[in-house]
Amino acid sequence: NGFVELGLAPELVQAVADLGYTQPTAVQLRAIPLALPTAGGSKDGLSNGYSDLMVSSQTGSGKTAAFLLPVLHTLIQQMAEQEAAERAEFEQACADAAAKGEPAPKRAKRKDPTNPRNFKAAVPGALILCPTRELAQQVAHDAIELVKHTRGLRVANVVGGIPYQLQIAKLQNANLVVATPGRLLDLQRSMQIKLDQVQFLVVDEADRMLDLGFSDDLADINDMTSQRRQTMMFSATFAPRIQQLAMRVMHDGGSSVQ
Ligand code: AMP
Repeated sequence: NGFVELGLAPELVQAVADLGYTQPTAVQLRAIPLALPTAGGSKDGLSNGYSDLMVSSQTGSGKTAAFLLPVLHTLIQQMAEQEAAERAEFEQACADAAAKGEPAPKRAKRKDPTNPRNFKAAVPGALILCPTRELAQQVAHDAIELVKHTRGLRVANVVGGIPYQLQIAKLQNANLVVATPGRLLDLQRSMQIKLDQVQFLVVDEADRMLDLGFSDDLADINDMTSQRRQTMMFSATFAPRIQQLAMRVMHDGGSSVQ
């Protein structure tokens, strides 16, 4: 399977194999290696080791997996690192207690997220913006397929036309949010979601995003997310207004991937 060579997490390689993908498409081959973090550090002056990308892509080219796979790969790696750190901390606490002759500490219990008393705003690590509800639903559907072998990574879809309560319930604990800009900003303003921990921002179909008048919403979302994040823009065209948007939301306007 040609996805193994891209260095993706085994959970993701298994998921693409289940979907019947045997070889990466051209856009996947070009974008995925550039989007993955560079081993051992910084690229393009970015302190986090990730590159910003501006990818020319048509619908049907496999562009969705070209951004979902690297984002999911990095989220999976971060989750594994966090789990390992928590385990090490717990083991240390056990060892300290044993040395003092105290009983072993208990592991913290996860709070029931469906209990309203435990309400917390969602703090996703990755955000994918799509111009239309239909596209956002399709991308979220693809993301759910790709994480089916991954434990504990949650995908939520934030689009207009769905009752707020239903969306908010699903949003809790989401690591990856796939959204249309309008509904996302509604939820941000009503403090259901915080965007300051977003480390990956993907703008899908950037040209349609501008055609539909989302320029100001994109600027607002850009300001709310961390400036140290990785950004990828996908667009069918590289018209000057797309380049301008790229200059605004990406470090040095991003590396172009044709
Ligand atoms: P997209 O351009 O993301 O809308 O993808 C177009 C179609 O190609 C979708 O139905 C995907 O499921 C499919 N697809 C994406 N990547 C691959 C691949 N590497 N091999 C075969 N089919 C793929």
